Amino acid sequence: MAIDDRQSDEIEIEGVGKVFGQGATAYHALTDIDLAIRAGEFFTLLGPSGCGKTTLLRLIAGFEHPTSGRLRIKGRDVVGQAPNQRLVNTVFQNYALFPHMSVAQNIGFGLKMLGRPRAEITATTDEMMHLVKMDTMANRRPAELSGGQQQRVALARALAPRPSVLLLDEPLSALDLKLRKEMQTELKRLQVETGITFVFVTHDQEEALTMSDRIAVMQQGRILQLGTPHEIYHAPTERFVADFIGETNLLSLPVVALQGHGAELTLPGGQTVPARVADGLMPAVGDMVSAVIRPEQAAIVAEGEGHLPATVKGAVFFGTDTHIHLTLDDGQPFTIRRQNNDAQRDPANGTRVGVALTSGALQVLRG
Ligand code: ATP
Repeated sequence: MAIDDRQSDEIEIEGVGKVFGQGATAYHALTDIDLAIRAGEFFTLLGPSGCGKTTLLRLIAGFEHPTSGRLRIKGRDVVGQAPNQRLVNTVFQNYALFPHMSVAQNIGFGLKMLGRPRAEITATTDEMMHLVKMDTMANRRPAELSGGQQQRVALARALAPRPSVLLLDEPLSALDLKLRKEMQTELKRLQVETGITFVFVTHDQEEALTMSDRIAVMQQGRILQLGTPHEIYHAPTERFVADFIGETNLLSLPVVALQGHGAELTLPGGQTVPARVADGLMPAVGDMVSAVIRPEQAAIVAEGEGHLPATVKGAVFFGTDTHIHLTLDDGQPFTIRRQNNDAQRDPANGTRVGVALTSGALQVLRG
């Protein structure tokens, strides 16, 4: 496929809704989805079970059809088009390899179905086996492969016909943690090397943060926030997003003043600190608002110092870091993540401490 074709490739989703069933049993799985996925990006749909991410992926693949709205791939309206007429291919969670075929036959299968010449099938199969590092296992059957190796074959099989878009539905969830981490790096490498647009579905926030160029966070059939991993993590706009992505402290605090695009909030203990305010949100003086502080944006200091007085409730050791659980003076829980780069002693339970916040640590959220 010509490079120019790839550059114009994109998925445009406008006002898409999906309702399953009718009348009293109708279920709105997707509502008002607007999304433009850029050519060559690693795009992730992230959200809890049942939020509609697989349904959206199946609409792009053509296994389901939208109840309302428009869907274009590379500028062409695809609503009503069958899956095999679209420039997309899908990798499923359960690799679905053909058990009676070898690795090479599995990878070449799609090309054979497309009626490509034998020499091209052999050359592409060899290239794909090399890409996923399975060259030495060409003649093995799926039953003779590990889970990670089977997933590599499934990826190579989906990539072989060189689709414009590869849809991946939780493809790593059956793998153990170590293999999953290895495959995350592999997937990212494959996407960069092939330049194919990847649309990846997961409920695992860490997986989404490490691999994606952009993430759409979904809840109950809607997209709540769309942004780079950095934006989603550091500038969540919704309480749900802040809570779902990474560990977080969500405090309920009063607004005492407004300043430009920010607000001044009063912390338990009486100190006033500036906070960023999510776009489109207009709190008033006197409102109680939800504010997020990431656990790594706070540190324990001596009692009477810092921004917040607190009492130590416990500490949990995670190897690279320790989570120290505190109770603030108004009873709200608060967690601090401390990196274990030297042999610091954990403060004993019941110790009175101060908490220092890094500047710009607070953000006011919707919801
Ligand atoms: P998971 O992570 O558990 O796979 P998901 O975010 O991918 O979840 P979907 O599979 O898209 O969620 O399902 C969204 C909602 O739509 C769910 O409540 C599901 O029960 C419902 N749903 C999906 N397919 C159908 C169907 N064919 N008929 C009726 N309801 C459906």
